Amino acid sequence: MIHAVEVLAPDSLGEALAMKAAHPDAVPIAGGTDLMVALNFARERPDAILDLTRVAELAQWGFDNGTLRVGAGVSYARIIDELGDRLPGLAMASRTVGSPQIRNRGTVGGNLGTASPAGDGLPPLYVSDAEVELAGVSGTRRVPVAEFVTGPKRQAARDDELIAAFVLPPAAGPQQFAKVGPRNAMVIAVCSLSLAVWPAQRRVAVCLGSAGPTPIRAIEAEDFLAGALEEDGLWDSRAPIGEPAAARFGELVGAAARPIDDVRSTAAYRRHAVAVLARRLLGWAWEEHRCA
Ligand SMILES: Cc1cc2nc3c(=O)[nH]c(=O)nc-3n(C[C@H](O)[C@H](O)[C@H](O)COP(=O)(O)OP(=O)(O)OC[C@H]3O[C@@H](n4cnc5c(N)ncnc54)[C@H](O)[C@@H]3O)c2cc1C
Repeated sequence: MIHAVEVLAPDSLGEALAMKAAHPDAVPIAGGTDLMVALNFARERPDAILDLTRVAELAQWGFDNGTLRVGAGVSYARIIDELGDRLPGLAMASRTVGSPQIRNRGTVGGNLGTASPAGDGLPPLYVSDAEVELAGVSGTRRVPVAEFVTGPKRQAARDDELIAAFVLPPAAGPQQFAKVGPRNAMVIAVCSLSLAVWPAQRRVAVCLGSAGPTPIRAIEAEDFLAGALEEDGLWDSRAPIGEPAAARFGELVGAAARPIDDVRSTAAYRRHAVAVLARRLLGWAWEEHRCA
């Protein structure tokens, strides 16, 4: 039986929001790199699709009082090309997403919309305390990304809202991202790790990807490292981080994981791998900070 799908094609954000309010069941489509897969496998059968590709406002980014506001429809390729110096961690993660075709079509807004624990765009947002801007006809609200993602493939946008943008500070120190998978490209993360150095706050933020139901900030590891860096005077001396502190940081990151066994990996391997990544990324980031 043929299933008719109504396609709504707004030309502006105002029009898109009005259409979403009038058709709350309409499923937004940006790059379509998640949604088209779901449609092809008949995992989703929407009666209406809201095509956001002509909404220019969603494809813009800019500064607002020193904070970056990046439209939900900015592709990974553009993040790499245009924002690589301001958001190096997100750009590193973007380089690992799919293939050139996927990076040209796929958006961070779509990654947020899907809210997969394996979404590579999410951990870099967590370590920057990014907020997700949700827009509806009745107004706009900003939600911290860790509150926006409520569970595996679950997020906090209401039926009458669209993800308009994400908002975050530009990097103030080194940022790193690494992903473990069976090959280097076109791979869903077995696990990933994002790390950002914030010298003014004297803090290193770290977030695990694909190692729990949502991305996970490893707060205990962050607190431990903040204490160790302070105690040893390393923010001022810029000396290397000692091996015991780096090892303990890795252990605490591993302990923060809430992984499962699935087709891609065992839970035990994920826990081990994020601990290794944590030590490695901390070493790279701290070395860059020392030499800056
Ligand atoms: C071959 C292949 C490889 C991939 N590799 C990776 C990878 O390495 N890493 C990774 O993280 N992902 C990967 N993906 C998944 C996908 O590319 C990403 O999740 C991408 O960010 C989705 O963005 P999109 O613009 O294509 O989203 P879409 O498919 O258009 O939408 C995804 C979801 O978000 C919703 N949505 C989109 N925009 C909005 C908006 N503005 N407001 C509200 N809801 C919205 C949609 O309704 C839908 O539910 C891959 C996919 C494929 C097909």
